[in-house]
Amino acid sequence: MVKTYHPETLTEALKIRNETHALPYAGGTDLMVRYRQGPGLVPAFDREVMFIGHLPELTKLQEKNGEFAIGACVPYREIIHHRHTPEILRKACSLIGAPAVQNLGTMGGNICNASPAGDTLPPLAILDTHLTLQSVSGERQVSLLSFFTGPGKTILRDDELLIGIHFRLPHFTAEGYRKVGTRKANALSKVAFAAFMLKEKDMLADIRIALGAVAPTVVRSRELENRLIGQPLTDLANLMPDLLESYGTLIQPITDQRSDANYRKTVSLNLIENFVLKEES
Ligand SMILES: Cc1cc2nc3c(=O)[nH]c(=O)nc-3n(C[C@H](O)[C@H](O)[C@H](O)COP(=O)(O)OP(=O)(O)OC[C@H]3O[C@@H](n4cnc5c(N)ncnc54)[C@H](O)[C@@H]3O)c2cc1C
Repeated sequence: MVKTYHPETLTEALKIRNETHALPYAGGTDLMVRYRQGPGLVPAFDREVMFIGHLPELTKLQEKNGEFAIGACVPYREIIHHRHTPEILRKACSLIGAPAVQNLGTMGGNICNASPAGDTLPPLAILDTHLTLQSVSGERQVSLLSFFTGPGKTILRDDELLIGIHFRLPHFTAEGYRKVGTRKANALSKVAFAAFMLKEKDMLADIRIALGAVAPTVVRSRELENRLIGQPLTDLANLMPDLLESYGTLIQPITDQRSDANYRKTVSLNLIENFVLKEES
């Protein structure tokens, strides 16, 4: 059986991580599944593990001057019930798994697991989220979008921990979130969609669109969003064909046990079109 560390402080956790590269875990709802052997058997970890879900620095949720900070190990249940949680994120968290998973699972785990179908990733992407990574040698801030390098792959080093998740509270005139799954609970996404829009008078002042489960990592393109920003609302319909064609090349879904590539692409493009044109007038 592998050794499990249970550090008492963040300093101790970072030291252990630096010296042993032990695998950190919080809720364990991804890790235990990944290493499971079968009913009644302990998981077959291939390296030492370290529980970090109790560390005070990683379990704080706070809002200060419009900046929202979520500790990496705050469980979904607390995020859902916090009064400052943006509605779009509350909705995404409350559609994850079922209450038992929401009691244990954390946003830090969802991010570090780096599944293309991680449900918090599209809303976090449009919130322009930044992450704080820490090791014994210091701290660095990275954007959420630069964190992922492929399915299950990130820039997190073996000596680092994800400490916090930060974004500014959003101010938009419309938002959309949609999780397309086989059923309402305990279903992984076939497609996840999150979007914000800001209208000023008759013009589109800002728009942010992100999609999950349709490419190796979460999809968001500021370049494509910029094609709509500053345009009169009455022109949006004319811009849609070119825009959807460009999103069609960005979206590279796979066919797997949950859905097929064509379905995923069609649904994604429909969700973008419906969101933009519904908000047209
Ligand atoms: C029944 C069931 C239903 C589910 N439904 C959904 C769903 O609908 N949508 C969805 O997106 N996911 C779903 N999941 C997956 C999972 O619950 C989420 O991804 C959850 O957010 C993982 O959080 P955790 O704390 O349990 O992660 P853990 O399992 O503890 O860790 C996951 C990974 O992240 C790493 N890690 C965790 N915290 C840190 C940290 N602070 N620093 C560095 N590395 C870290 C771990 O080493 C591991 O590789 C489901 C899982 C189950 C079992």
